[in-house]
Amino acid sequence: MITLRSLTKVFPGGVRALDAVDLTIADGEFFALLGPSGCGKTTLLRTIAGLEAPGSGAVAINGRDVTALPPGRRDVAMVFQDYAIFPHMSVRDNIAYPLRIRKVPRAERAGRAEEVAARLSLSELLGRRPAQLSGGQQQRVALARAIACRPSAFLFDEPLSNLDARLRLEARTFLKRLQRELAVTTVFVTHDQAEALALADRIAVMSAGRMVQIGTPAEVFQRPATTFVAAFIGSTPMNLLRGTSVNGALHVAGAVRAAPAGLGEGDEIVYGVRPEYMNLSETERPDGIPGTVAVVENLGTGALVTLESGDQLVQAVVPEGGEPRLGARRWAVPARSLVYRDGALMT
Ligand code: ATP
Repeated sequence: MITLRSLTKVFPGGVRALDAVDLTIADGEFFALLGPSGCGKTTLLRTIAGLEAPGSGAVAINGRDVTALPPGRRDVAMVFQDYAIFPHMSVRDNIAYPLRIRKVPRAERAGRAEEVAARLSLSELLGRRPAQLSGGQQQRVALARAIACRPSAFLFDEPLSNLDARLRLEARTFLKRLQRELAVTTVFVTHDQAEALALADRIAVMSAGRMVQIGTPAEVFQRPATTFVAAFIGSTPMNLLRGTSVNGALHVAGAVRAAPAGLGEGDEIVYGVRPEYMNLSETERPDGIPGTVAVVENLGTGALVTLESGDQLVQAVVPEGGEPRLGARRWAVPARSLVYRDGALMT
């Protein structure tokens, strides 16, 4: 279990990379830190690893306060984006390296390196140097090295980002299976929301050194707590439309929709609808947002349709065969929606 209490880190020059972060990661949990570049993900991971000292606050691992301990004594293994494997060492020596540092006897080292290599399908490659390996294989060597010392937690900093798209998907599935088998607490930094949704038991979405939302992939996807999270999560971004409350109803881009309780007359809101939950009607209806088809993007199965509605754009995913022609008139009818006031989820 990893517990962070009130972690704050201000870099020289005044950048507040971590701002009073409180977080508990459960034993065996796969936890993703997600957020745009510069939001503090790597700093948080490095602070857990002991590579960065917090300005204030505390880090505990399995109930033990490790804030003052050096990285080597925290019993965590970190895997970096560039793998950081040693080019002059064989795969075998790379995997066994942390065991050597920990003065594990030679025979046991060799046994454990071979066992881990077998698990990661590296047995045939033990004699090779990193330069003789593919990117995916190098990445597995870095994983193997992390696993070999049987740490109580894995810390991953964008470990898949140097792989090409297809290999990245394969590595993702592999990593998820491996984590389930080993049941080791894992903290995974990524700026790729799809990766976080696919891998994690829970996700923390960060912005400017703060946790904006912490939840399961379903919670973060279905009910983003703020418009920032709503815009960040989802392969096709959520429609975030301006609207106003008038006479107890919401007026959104020419449609009249039910208003949630608690809105005052004239309140400005943002109406959030995922393109997957937006249906296109060929006939006019009062609860539909009128628009003209401006773009049709093929998604392989179905298409993403962009309507122009006044000065707002509305996107809908339509099933294969349901693509409208450019310039056609349509009414976008939300099947599920969220209402945000002052950037925060209301309903
Ligand atoms: P990325 O996805 O681009 O790696 P990140 O979310 O991991 O971003 P961090 O690397 O944690 O972000 O950086 C958080 C903020 O702290 C950024 O504004 C960054 O410029 C700043 N920062 C990081 N390291 C240092 C440093 N050693 N000195 C000064 N500022 C730093």
